[in-house]
Amino acid sequence: MHKDDGFARRRVHLRLVGGRPCVWLIGFCVFAAPFVRAAGLDADERRMADWIDAHAADATALLREAVDIPSGTMNHDGVREVGRVMARELDALGFGTEWIDMPSEVDRAGHLFGRREGRGRKILLVGHLDTVFEREDGVRPFASDGETATGHGVYDMKAGNTIIVFALKALEEIGALDDVSVTVAFMGDEEKAGRPLGTSRRDLIEAGKWADVALGFEEAMHFDDTDWATVARRSSSSWILTVTGRQWHSSDIFSDDVGAGAIFEASRILNDFYEEVRGEKNLTFNAGTIQGGTEVEYDPAGNRGRTFGKTNVVPRRVVVHGGIRAISEEQLDRARHTMRTIVADSLPRTEATIEFGDGYPPMAPTEGNLALARTLSAINVALGRKPMPPLDPAERGAADISFVAPFTDALAGLGGIGGGGHTPDEHLRLSSMPLAIKRAAILIYRIGRDGESD
Ligand SMILES: [Zn+2]
Repeated sequence: MHKDDGFARRRVHLRLVGGRPCVWLIGFCVFAAPFVRAAGLDADERRMADWIDAHAADATALLREAVDIPSGTMNHDGVREVGRVMARELDALGFGTEWIDMPSEVDRAGHLFGRREGRGRKILLVGHLDTVFEREDGVRPFASDGETATGHGVYDMKAGNTIIVFALKALEEIGALDDVSVTVAFMGDEEKAGRPLGTSRRDLIEAGKWADVALGFEEAMHFDDTDWATVARRSSSSWILTVTGRQWHSSDIFSDDVGAGAIFEASRILNDFYEEVRGEKNLTFNAGTIQGGTEVEYDPAGNRGRTFGKTNVVPRRVVVHGGIRAISEEQLDRARHTMRTIVADSLPRTEATIEFGDGYPPMAPTEGNLALARTLSAINVALGRKPMPPLDPAERGAADISFVAPFTDALAGLGGIGGGGHTPDEHLRLSSMPLAIKRAAILIYRIGRDGESD
């Protein structure tokens, strides 16, 4: 797959006219200076890169320590223990760390936040301590053949957490950590966010409102021999359609008294969703489960239901549970509006309601995000790799960075390169760790160097 990344269009085309080289040369130097500086690393950046290469084994050791602690979202003790390891590292860097407990009704471990005041821009770094692997999935400790590392959470996203810590260590090494104010948010329930989201994501959203820039360290996207910049992520939320009809002997179905029944009405609605809501780029929605009949029980939390019905009885109830993903709040609102209009246009003797659940908001591809991606791409080139085109938002699911994206410039996908996320085959390319740490450290350094806090 090839995308026009937009960086290429900005390549400089120089034409010399009038033959007076010195004036042109001076003109060229002034004009090209940013590209020359962007093309290479400055002395401080090279020092960080060298320090990072020299400490690659230490980074792997921290990663191993974190992976060897099972921390499925519902394994609260495990999540807190990984949090203690990360708190130890942040404390050593002069951060004020705080474990934020959740109210018991949220039923989650809580989050680790670390804050460090500095001179310049306010930067939020986002990671998560939990994995999808609960106790029933067994334990897969860290293992490595020198290049490929395996183990639960090695790629999603204990590598990203390690990259955050070592990028900060590299900045500290050259005395540049004081140039920025940093908040680190290590969420404890990203894989299965506690509800209500307003409570479980309160501190993260507050940090997003504080920040000038937010960086997400979920896995990096690398395919087609290309590193891709994650400037946008789609929202992810749910919907529940409930349809009722008149229970009657089926011989009278379609009559004015009995009408169409709940199942035909539900089919009409779903078909109209397919025909009328489908089509906008980056908008997708799915009907995940459907239960219909005379007696219908459905538990949305467990995604499980029971149904009974007879062929000679008009069904009185249908429940459909689905999801929806959109690239912006506007697109989500448009889709929800059309869905409500369709639901309201009931067949005879039927009624339907649709409820939209709260979920992960969209991270829209703003100009601020694209500007961060351009800086990261220049760093990638300076590190000897190719420019990083913006990734198609449809290529990524929802993540915690999306909760802060409405309030600040954001970039995601600063983690390690690997694959098999959420599967027993989860793996990480260890050689991608120094690269990712350098990208992150130099990006934070340049954000700090190039800008005052907003
Ligand atoms: Zn993750």
